[in-house]
Amino acid sequence: MLKINEVFYSIQGESSWVGHPTVFVRTTGCNLRCTYCDTKYSYYEGNFQETSTVLNEIAKHKTKFVCITGGEPLLQKEIFPLMDTLVSQGYQVSLETSGSKSIENVNPKVKTILDVKTPDSGAADSFLISNLAFSNSLTEFKFVICSENDFKWSEEFCRQHDLFGKFAVLYSPSYGAVSERWLAEQILAKNSIARLQIQLHKKIWSPDARGV
Ligand code: SF4
Repeated sequence: MLKINEVFYSIQGESSWVGHPTVFVRTTGCNLRCTYCDTKYSYYEGNFQETSTVLNEIAKHKTKFVCITGGEPLLQKEIFPLMDTLVSQGYQVSLETSGSKSIENVNPKVKTILDVKTPDSGAADSFLISNLAFSNSLTEFKFVICSENDFKWSEEFCRQHDLFGKFAVLYSPSYGAVSERWLAEQILAKNSIARLQIQLHKKIWSPDARGV
């Protein structure tokens, strides 16, 4: 059984798979409490479901893209066989995790997006450095940047662990803290080779975006 907060169909707003119609499986529970968390409702709310029920729900949609998110999906051990089954059924599976739990047993065909927590998240140092050894060519590293200090910290982290060149490195502005433009300017001014990531889903579904 898995405790599931929600299963929903939407446009992927992040990662290299941005723009793909995707089924999202949001698990319940998180071991962190990031300052900017916009999914606090996932901490406790949800229902226990059989893996087969989740698979049936996913299969109702045409897409072959599935994103496992949370909360922190890796808190529930049943998530591993769910991802294995999805991969074996031909799905393109991505996993969003803070990297505070081991990814050793994540199916290597899953695109793992490691959301490394910066100092301003309030959860810095939660990342398991041992996860670097389990990363592969599909793995992406994401940093939510809240300030100039976060930017510097992220650059240092990437250089120290030789992430640039080996992996996709994505920098996202923390909404309400820094602007997309500010982050773009920082990337250019500081000669970073990180990729600016704008949370497409927030743009599409914001109240301001209504209309034709
Ligand atoms: S890891 Fe994600 S779900 Fe958990 S507190 Fe941080 S932003 Fe929220």
